[in-house]
Amino acid sequence: MPRLPLVFLLGLLGLAPMAWAQPRAQILLKVEPGSKHFWCRYTLRLPAGAAPAPVLLNLNRSFRVLSVRSPRARQVVTKPYWYAGFQDTLQGITLHYPPGNQQPHRITVTYEGTLTARYATEHVLEFSRNTVWVPFLPYKEDELTKYELEVQAPAGYDVVSTRPPAAHRSGRFTFRGATSAIEPTALISRDFQRLASSAPGPPVAVVKAGPLLPADTVLLTKATDIVAFYNQSIGRRDAIPRFTVLLPGTNRNAAGLLDNAVDITYSDFDVRKRDELLILAHEISHKWWAYGSVSSYEEWLNEAFATYSSLLYLQASGDTTGFRLELDTRLKAAVGAPGIIGFDRSKFDYPTTRRVVYAKGTAVLHALHTRVGNDKFTSILAATAAQKTATTEAFLTTVGQEAGPETQRWLRDLLTR
Ligand SMILES: [Zn+2]
Repeated sequence: MPRLPLVFLLGLLGLAPMAWAQPRAQILLKVEPGSKHFWCRYTLRLPAGAAPAPVLLNLNRSFRVLSVRSPRARQVVTKPYWYAGFQDTLQGITLHYPPGNQQPHRITVTYEGTLTARYATEHVLEFSRNTVWVPFLPYKEDELTKYELEVQAPAGYDVVSTRPPAAHRSGRFTFRGATSAIEPTALISRDFQRLASSAPGPPVAVVKAGPLLPADTVLLTKATDIVAFYNQSIGRRDAIPRFTVLLPGTNRNAAGLLDNAVDITYSDFDVRKRDELLILAHEISHKWWAYGSVSSYEEWLNEAFATYSSLLYLQASGDTTGFRLELDTRLKAAVGAPGIIGFDRSKFDYPTTRRVVYAKGTAVLHALHTRVGNDKFTSILAATAAQKTATTEAFLTTVGQEAGPETQRWLRDLLTR
């Protein structure tokens, strides 16, 4: 028998490697910055068995669906519905296929909309994970998705994303990568200003829609410092080659993005203030802490880990007073909070959920740090990050491997009470 490439043989056997089983998205976005109007054609290719039948896609309900096409789909129903975490902001697109249809799906949704002031200013249009501007499968908003994003903008406009464009000519910008399903990102502006790091290490860029301020230079220095610190600690087994800080100035929130970037929207963001430096360090660390489900207690794997990472950075940068103060605030907030394992957030108000997922989780990590010491603790974090840990059980397994069964039992107990 001739020697066939392994991937081909696996394909014949229906055992294609994981990379083949990844959803793929092809996105064409046309924007009119003057009116803040956009038009989008989103094609999702789902491997066989990637979604239950019928297939349901979530889309921002303020957008107008122009068409939904999918080979073999018998019926398509689009209507607003309630979705946990996004409340009543979504519409569901349900595609019905003939019974027993196990083939891969190709689904194309064409829609249009107008960005509100939350995502657009006179300087910028922001299509980010916060805009929720692409369709996604319920509870799979952070599923790793391979994408190609082409943005068409009028002459004179520039388009930036979490990475440089793979191609760019006459108003068409093409970006390719793999990231969370809802994270393909495009900022469109006529006034981008850029700063780039000159320090050794991974290149860091700050891209701002609007004029640069002295604080932005400090921001670049600090972001470069934070990335270098994480690459040698939490990220040392999964170090990143580059980083981008996006500053759209839409004044809403800050978010870490999986594709080596953060989206910080505050126009007066100033990391010379300790709490804002902590925000930056927290969001950058989400590059590594992003795999716990955001609709369950597993979210502590994102938020407590990001919070504690930012405190570790503060300590490493020499601000030991700040470290102690900020840690104490969180330890106090954790007192009396319910246990993390089994915490049912549907039975508690949001402030309590925050205390559990942020403060209590931070207190648990600090207790583990104190118990096992600096070297072992850093090894645990680096292993947890490299494995893209998505469950507390998987984290406990890592702790058992790195620090032994006694510490694993102790930690399980701490996480439960
Ligand atoms: Zn966070």
